[in-house]
Amino acid sequence: MGHPQRRRAWWLVALGPILVAGVAWTAVPAAQPAPTAPAHAVVLVTLDGTRWQDLFGGPDLDILRSVSGKTPVEETDTYKRFWAATPDARRAKVMPFLWSRLVAKEGAILGNRQAGSRMQVVNRHRFSYPGYSELLTGAAHDDVITSNDNRRYPFLTVLEWLRADLRLPKSGVGVFGSWETFRFIGEREEGAVTINAGYQDFDHPDPEMRTLSALQHLAPSGFHGARHDVYTFRFGLTHLQTARPRLLYLAFDETDDWAHQKRYDLVFDALHRTDRQIEQLWTWLQNDAEYRGRTTLVLTVDHGRGRLPADWSDHGDSTSGAEETWVGCFGATVTARGEQRETPPMTTSQVASTVAQVLGRDFRAAVPAAAPPIPMCIGAR
Ligand SMILES: [Zn+2]
Repeated sequence: MGHPQRRRAWWLVALGPILVAGVAWTAVPAAQPAPTAPAHAVVLVTLDGTRWQDLFGGPDLDILRSVSGKTPVEETDTYKRFWAATPDARRAKVMPFLWSRLVAKEGAILGNRQAGSRMQVVNRHRFSYPGYSELLTGAAHDDVITSNDNRRYPFLTVLEWLRADLRLPKSGVGVFGSWETFRFIGEREEGAVTINAGYQDFDHPDPEMRTLSALQHLAPSGFHGARHDVYTFRFGLTHLQTARPRLLYLAFDETDDWAHQKRYDLVFDALHRTDRQIEQLWTWLQNDAEYRGRTTLVLTVDHGRGRLPADWSDHGDSTSGAEETWVGCFGATVTARGEQRETPPMTTSQVASTVAQVLGRDFRAAVPAAAPPIPMCIGAR
């Protein structure tokens, strides 16, 4: 914790530079800016295998052309809906809420390599289980986690650690995933936190949830072990509204599923739908007395994909570019700085400590091997 007299009180930060100038600010060494006051809650959202190129720039014409067959690219739905002259205009069509509200007004995002901002996984496998494990445990476990199999490993996740450290009830940490393997990825100790993932019934008294819970089994996605994201979103939002967790994790999957099918068009449809869901989530948070202004949203990804028409649908240790990731942080603990340019390199292994630090907790006290928090997400530069 350091010396108490050198820490900035939250109210000094909140009152801004008038009080801070010449009083507390000067006592803090410039190289180690203190983080902002902790948030009450954190919502982590992942968009499986979403390429930074697509997130920051919208559709790539060469890739779109390569998957459009005999249809001229200008006549595709993807072009008509999402094409524009500049990357900024394209991405705002794909994810209008993310860009025009969250990035513009509520926080910051990094990972656009065109803007000199880099983030990557440190695991060498570059597929989902190793990626999510890195993201939730703070480090790669390359020699142990070598497949996407439904297996549990002996590495503490920040999810179960926060539940214990904050003495929360089991419902206080909720994980809602489209992919069934999150039942294993989310915790080393079975039953430590609330997890609902894959085609799993959501046990909730709300009549609409009972209907949706039954319906998910009757509306299969066709993807192995992964239900449609809409069920994940609706169950997760309902858990937020009724169980009122301090940590909610929504793990969406369709972006990766459609990419593997080489459906570049449906990747963008999925991103667009997810943007609407993030808007719904954010709007609810900002209209609730407990969460309003006291919640940080962390939006990130488990791996990248190839860069070219020949390999954009793929990822793995032999796909160049599959290590490239990105992260956005918005809300309570984040200074609104928009898109970050020319940043020091970041890693996905930093997300675990970041999630903890948003709530004012030091994950590295429990897991010294975990990478440090991402400064952008906790108010520091
Ligand atoms: Zn994949």
